[in-house]
Amino acid sequence: MEIRFIAHSCFAVVTDQALIVYDYCKDSDNHILQQLLDGCHKQVYFVVSHFHEDHYNPDILNVEGARLLLSYDTVRRRRVNRDLTTAILRPGDIYEDENLTLHAYNSTDVGISTVTTLPNGTTIYHAGDNNNWFFAENPEEHIKTSLSEMEGLFISILRDISSDYPTIDHAMFPVDPRLGTNILRGPFQWLWHIKTKHFYPMHCWEQWDVVKEELQKLLDQFPDTEIHLCEV
Ligand SMILES: [Zn+2]
Repeated sequence: MEIRFIAHSCFAVVTDQALIVYDYCKDSDNHILQQLLDGCHKQVYFVVSHFHEDHYNPDILNVEGARLLLSYDTVRRRRVNRDLTTAILRPGDIYEDENLTLHAYNSTDVGISTVTTLPNGTTIYHAGDNNNWFFAENPEEHIKTSLSEMEGLFISILRDISSDYPTIDHAMFPVDPRLGTNILRGPFQWLWHIKTKHFYPMHCWEQWDVVKEELQKLLDQFPDTEIHLCEV
């Protein structure tokens, strides 16, 4: 299995049987996704966590033969023809076929976050916009109100996930510099609740220097987790 960072929160996971693309918004400058799709004989999947334009690009509807696993809000807000979808997912839903099982969970923002299990048992978490979005310096910047409300919801989602998956092999999770001094609050809480073998920061707005420095603190606290900086 191989995990390739494409852009922002978009990753491509190449397994023996499938090419799974999460939250496609655009290709990388060096067209990694196009190269993976060209001549791909595996089953292609597009998983979309929510409708925001940094997580959804309608171009995925034109990829022939792809299975589209879309969150309910994406279908509704982007007026996607339901006949094109393979599954429309709400928190709690499970999609299963011969190549993967995908378990949808809630998100603190909108839509879903997902755990994908491959036939060999490997687990992959993609957060979408699920994070502890409490903006330290600009609390008014976020839609949710108090820190305790945001944190309560976030922790309850983590507990839901950890009761099903106490360990995750690969987790793609927001490390967003816009959160200021709270940039690591969500990632720390994720790692406290769910033992994670490989951690991939995303939603970094290409501020790699800031993210790199912050990730060192994660490494210090969680030496058993391998952190993959996804800069391209
Ligand atoms: Zn986002």
